[in-house]
Amino acid sequence: MGRAAWDDEYEMVVAGSGAGAMTGALAAASNGLRTVVLEKTGLLGGTSAYSGSAIWLPGTRVQERADIGDSAEGARAYLRALLGDEAAAHREAFLSTAPELVEFLEKNPAIEFEWRAFPDYYAAPGRLEMGRSFVPPDLPVERLGLLAGLVRPPVDRDRAGRGHSASRPMAQGRSLIGRLLLAIVATGNGEIRTETPLTGLIMEDGRVAGVEAGGLRLRASRGVLLAAGGFEASASLRAERGVPGGAHLTMAPDGANTGDAIAAAVRVGASTGLLDQAWFCPGVLTPDGRPAFTLGFRGGLIVDGSGRRFANESLPYDRMGRRMADARAPFHLVWDTRFDGLPAISVPPLTPDEQLASGAWVQADTLDELAGRLGLPAEALAATVERFNGFAGKGADEDFHRGEDPYDLYFSGGRSCVVAVDRPPYFAAAVVLSDLGTKGGLRIDPDGRVLDGSDRPIPGLYAAGNTSASFTGPVYPGPGVPIGSAMAFAYRAAQHIST
Ligand code: FAD
Repeated sequence: MGRAAWDDEYEMVVAGSGAGAMTGALAAASNGLRTVVLEKTGLLGGTSAYSGSAIWLPGTRVQERADIGDSAEGARAYLRALLGDEAAAHREAFLSTAPELVEFLEKNPAIEFEWRAFPDYYAAPGRLEMGRSFVPPDLPVERLGLLAGLVRPPVDRDRAGRGHSASRPMAQGRSLIGRLLLAIVATGNGEIRTETPLTGLIMEDGRVAGVEAGGLRLRASRGVLLAAGGFEASASLRAERGVPGGAHLTMAPDGANTGDAIAAAVRVGASTGLLDQAWFCPGVLTPDGRPAFTLGFRGGLIVDGSGRRFANESLPYDRMGRRMADARAPFHLVWDTRFDGLPAISVPPLTPDEQLASGAWVQADTLDELAGRLGLPAEALAATVERFNGFAGKGADEDFHRGEDPYDLYFSGGRSCVVAVDRPPYFAAAVVLSDLGTKGGLRIDPDGRVLDGSDRPIPGLYAAGNTSASFTGPVYPGPGVPIGSAMAFAYRAAQHIST
């Protein structure tokens, strides 16, 4: 019996449309390959579009222009101190690709970047205290024309079912995805298909020859790049793999990233790793029960279910999330009138009046009353706040060393972030363990080739971003590592497919 016919034929098929997918598609299309991007939902960009679009690709012309003293050597020392030499080959591939990738991208008239201060997350050799990540500038919506409607809007507007603001440029992740989209379209070799979920991989003669997607059979004569996010939105996979948090508490777009691409690859023999890991963060609960990614605490304190502090609240968010995973829920952020609203940054931004009116935030004239309303032991909460206020007076957090690291101080503009909570009324918000996506998935080699259980590449199959197991293991080294590493390995995959 002959083989079933193809509905369409491409040289490279990319599943997903986050920063990695779009970078891989751009590289392949620029190399002259007939390329298609398959996106499950009606909008492009996934979590990448929600993101701040910080990109951690060290030692490139962007950092050189900013004259911040970055180098591949410095980044190598930093990564080595954090990760050891376990993923040395991936680390070296990442470091050597970063300058080439950024040069390739910035040659494109649609793409530019600028360094933005944001400290690396660990005190380790090679750290840059003001960071090495960069971002794309805002993108005027008019530059995208009709394509603008294809880019996923910011998280608050998207959750409310609204499109982009007509009066504001596309910022952050929307700018990154918008720019990559413009560049792909301009190659003349890139096609975009939304509402076309990848459901399976088609093998022929021991290699991946195409995909099943949206009821179609699409040929990929050179290769398939799986960059369709992690499985953060799958409650069952999270439970099976023991990922702390919850599918309803992830910051990824509702229901999109359910691990489809990982499952499809596993069915053709791919191996997986790090499946219990995510890029964690604290999330302040909003009235609809969804979290707002919260970082940069410049005041307030967070208590656990016993009314006690359990960590330095100003820790980089993934590190704080990991402390939460080990601590006793529920968690509450407590602050006072010294701050006009949340003493932290939240994505989406939260308006105090709305949060208080909805009951998501609680207000009380005394700590006793606050404890009662939160269901916390009143004596413990009072003792915790008194001890914390003592630390504020001394300027030293003797329990958790908050405020001793440049990261902690960055968000308070260099002032102490251990600020007394003693000016009633008091406020409290529920804080949950959230995430920016899972980071375990398909094991890849340094060229992004998906490995089978015997460490052999599966011919024709590549992965990047949260579909792959991150080379950073359980560590989140600095701002922009999820997107920077997704872009680097997707680019390497595209180059490998093109040769
Ligand atoms: P995504 O960007 O989520 O893309 C996956 C895409 O694949 C989605 O569009 C999805 O719909 C699609 N898809 C899923 N299944 C299928 C299927 N079967 N077929 C086809 N398509 C499918 N990281 C940084 O590095 N820098 C930052 O500044 C940063 N800021 C952040 C701020 C916020 C508010 C959030 C929420 C996250 C942030 N992150 C940041 C984290 C980062 O955005 C994500 O970890 C990263 O973008 C994930 O990229 P990805 O390509 O793996 O997945």
